[in-house]
Amino acid sequence: MEFVSQKTLCILKPDALSRDLEDAIAEKLMAAGLQILARKEMLLSYAQAEAFYAVHKDRAFFEELCTYISSGPIVVQVLSGVEAVSKYRTLMGATNPDQAEPGTIRGDFGQSLSLNTVHGSDSLENAEKEIAFFFDPQDFYI
Ligand code: GDP
Repeated sequence: MEFVSQKTLCILKPDALSRDLEDAIAEKLMAAGLQILARKEMLLSYAQAEAFYAVHKDRAFFEELCTYISSGPIVVQVLSGVEAVSKYRTLMGATNPDQAEPGTIRGDFGQSLSLNTVHGSDSLENAEKEIAFFFDPQDFYI
């Protein structure tokens, strides 16, 4: 089996920033072999949140999700590494922090389904789309 370097999108949600968790999360990323290629701190508008999470637009929690992600500053990062998409999904842990393994980001820091600290692309195809949503190619190298 061939292991290839990939890029994926990581978002530190408002609860990560309000609790000053960026460094602790960066340590976990580094320990897992994931490199931060680009980083941007920003405040998403509700309309941007609706566009980013469009795939969930028919879900009952869509409004709550968009309200929450646009409620405070977030940090958006491009990660790279061998098998970065699945590696980062594993490191994130289950969507519901109650079900996330200890040692994962959500297992250690997540507070609820909404306040689950991080977002991560769920496939290589979505990673490309999500990176392009936030970054221009000249924002990062490699
Ligand atoms: P993820 O890929 O693990 O982030 O999960 P999904 O793509 O399924 O959902 C996107 C985000 O919506 C999750 O990270 C949660 O914050 C939120 N979410 C998912 N399911 C629920 C739910 O049943 N209730 C609420 N309130 N939020 C949810």
